[in-house]
Amino acid sequence: MQYVSTRSGHAQPSTPQQFSDILLGGLAPDGGLYLPEQYPQVSGAELDAWRKLSYADLAFEVLKKFATDIPDADLKALTHQTYRAEVYCNARAGEHAAQITPLRVLEASNAKGESCRLILQALSNGPTLAFKDMAMQLLGNLFEYTLAKQHAELNIFGATSGDTGSAAEYAMRGKLGIRVFMLSPHKKMSAFQTAQMFSLQDPNIFNIAIEGVFDDCQDMVKAVSNDLDFKARQKIGTVNSINWARVVAQVVYYFRGYLAATSSNDQKVSFTVPSGNFGNICAGHIARMMGLPIDKLVAATNENDVLDEFFRTGVYRVRKSAETYHTSSPSMDISKASNFERFIFDLLGRDSERVRALFHKVETAGGFDLSGQPGSDGDEFAKVAQYGFRSGKSTHQGRLDTIRDVQDEYGITIDTHTADGIKVARDYLTPGVPMIVLETALAAKFNETILEALGTDAERPAGFEDIEALPQRFVVMAADIAKVKDFIAERTGL
Ligand SMILES: *Cc1c(COP(=O)(O)O)cnc(C)c1O
Repeated sequence: MQYVSTRSGHAQPSTPQQFSDILLGGLAPDGGLYLPEQYPQVSGAELDAWRKLSYADLAFEVLKKFATDIPDADLKALTHQTYRAEVYCNARAGEHAAQITPLRVLEASNAKGESCRLILQALSNGPTLAFKDMAMQLLGNLFEYTLAKQHAELNIFGATSGDTGSAAEYAMRGKLGIRVFMLSPHKKMSAFQTAQMFSLQDPNIFNIAIEGVFDDCQDMVKAVSNDLDFKARQKIGTVNSINWARVVAQVVYYFRGYLAATSSNDQKVSFTVPSGNFGNICAGHIARMMGLPIDKLVAATNENDVLDEFFRTGVYRVRKSAETYHTSSPSMDISKASNFERFIFDLLGRDSERVRALFHKVETAGGFDLSGQPGSDGDEFAKVAQYGFRSGKSTHQGRLDTIRDVQDEYGITIDTHTADGIKVARDYLTPGVPMIVLETALAAKFNETILEALGTDAERPAGFEDIEALPQRFVVMAADIAKVKDFIAERTGL
């Protein structure tokens, strides 16, 4: 399996790369994102055979189609090392942990009063209680494996306002050949999130609390990524949401959700995905392109509705910082959707020239328009529905109401991001087509809003009761890039 960039695609066949070549990197050198030259197909017979597989074996079968340069036995060992009940048992352990992403079927009715199936697929039973563990845990094992083979080391440098940083640290802790340097805005994360990250005592994890806001942290990551000398000497890498291996690891749970919710391959299901950077739902798009019988892929956004706007109108318009709202589903507070280019590449028939022109326009003019209206950049919006995509948005009030409703009706406490998903999914319920809503985090992570909605605290999973009381290991630093670089160089000795 060869990979191409969305910005040079077929035009430069000399660029294809193997899975292991793109594993440790982010953007392609031309600024595009990597995608397979073509999507591997899954036949009906194969899908049937996959019904009885464990999660780890299913992950192996799916990944094998993309990571053709990793020997089967090694890949199988990596998926079994990653998708174990002991890793995904934090939340609702017991008999369900072995399923890794257990489903809960809720009865619901749509606006016409017809009875429909609404299903929650739990993706947040990993160590940091959010779906990012599903891919990041695999990434940690893949990185360690690949670096050992190459006799190489890697220093991951990133910025976080919460979920991504902690998922990365829990995936990389104790891994040979890997260090993590993670910036976060000092005293701006919730006490729970801070404790999750800062309580890690592993010598290869470095938490740097920056006296500033999240944007200051991100600016420093950008500055380092533009400093090619420093990057090369310090062997700097990233694990952001455009990383191809993260996307592909997420493809697995769409297959798993489908297989667990159906009994035969002539059935279809729909998915609703609480979305920000379009990484999660992009994996759904890829599963569908591989032949998984997905009817609709519904992108649910919060007040930061870049994606909802596109799927309603065909206009993609990135937001300025001042137009990006801080909401109670903060992991979806984005100004642009960094994985969106992957879908646009497919939508435009993989015309990399046009993708390059459109995303150049995003940088210079803030967006593009595929609505087909006079003066627009194209008319492909008419084709979007053929890919199954739909969308909707929620607000703070919508989250509070949905959290209350779901608690009253089903006795389940959902988190704020999953609430955005359920709120939007309700508009697309169809009899005979199960609607799977991806549960992207546990309520305990966003307790302030749970308290506001329900008047009681969210239940904390076992092991997290006193996390704020654990000793913390971090340094506080001014928002000064020279100081951060010195800190890294002193620790790596490079
Ligand atoms: C990251 C995250 C999202 C958004 O996922 P994308 O892949 O960026 O679309 C949604 N919910 C939670 C809890 C997250 O951590």
